[in-house]
Amino acid sequence: MRIDCRHVWEHISAYIDGQVEAALRAEIDRHLETCEICSAVLDSTRNVVVLVADDRVFELPAGFSERLHERLDRELEREEPT
Ligand SMILES: [Zn+2]
Repeated sequence: MRIDCRHVWEHISAYIDGQVEAALRAEIDRHLETCEICSAVLDSTRNVVVLVADDRVFELPAGFSERLHERLDRELEREEPT
């Protein structure tokens, strides 16, 4: 099984939460090793998750995560197979 960026983004939250099956997790790990975009997305997403998990308040750029997810949604739509 080979996965692309869209698959990684779709599963990124579950991946961080450790809720993806082992086979998929291994594929995502392998993808992240070679894909700077997804590594950056993972870092960004993880930061947001950590902020929530720690229940602490940090100064983030306004709309940071909204913009990230809008961007991902747009990318997903654009790359949808026709
Ligand atoms: Zn990627």
